[in-house]
Amino acid sequence: MASYYDEHDCEPLGEGETPNHMLHLARLLLDTGLSTAWEMEYSRIFGGQRQVPPASKKVVEELETKLVNPTMAAQGLKCPVCLMEFDEEDELKILPCNHQFHTRCIITWLKKVCSCPVCRHELPTDDPDYEEFKKQKVREKQRQQNLDTLHDSMFG
Ligand SMILES: [Zn+2]
Ligand SMILES: [Zn+2]
Repeated sequence: MASYYDEHDCEPLGEGETPNHMLHLARLLLDTGLSTAWEMEYSRIFGGQRQVPPASKKVVEELETKLVNPTMAAQGLKCPVCLMEFDEEDELKILPCNHQFHTRCIITWLKKVCSCPVCRHELPTDDPDYEEFKKQKVREKQRQQNLDTLHDSMFG
């Protein structure tokens, strides 16, 4: 009788073998999928066909880069994407929200999703529909705030 692994055409992890990082990344991306209200809303408006678009290529190219220095390496900080500790001389990218990642990890990430894997801070995208959608959300929020202010000035 065939084993589970034969049937599913994959190898069990051997002794001392590390898990596949791309697999971990894929899981993170799946988790990111449609889990926020924001993304549900987006998917509703655009017929559920589309996910949040990748980050703008230009924005990704212009992210701040730095090398891990000995002090940082000694702190044992981990890259949130691959969960490996930062080693001295590793190249990192810093997002506008100040979260930092291995260059190779965050570049792969931002080619799929425009938001920070840690805090979901969104980077600009090259997708005009999505940018328009974001603007509408901001306008809605402002309108709501204006209403609240009006309400407060009348009843406060
Ligand atoms: Zn990493
Ligand atoms: Zn962040």
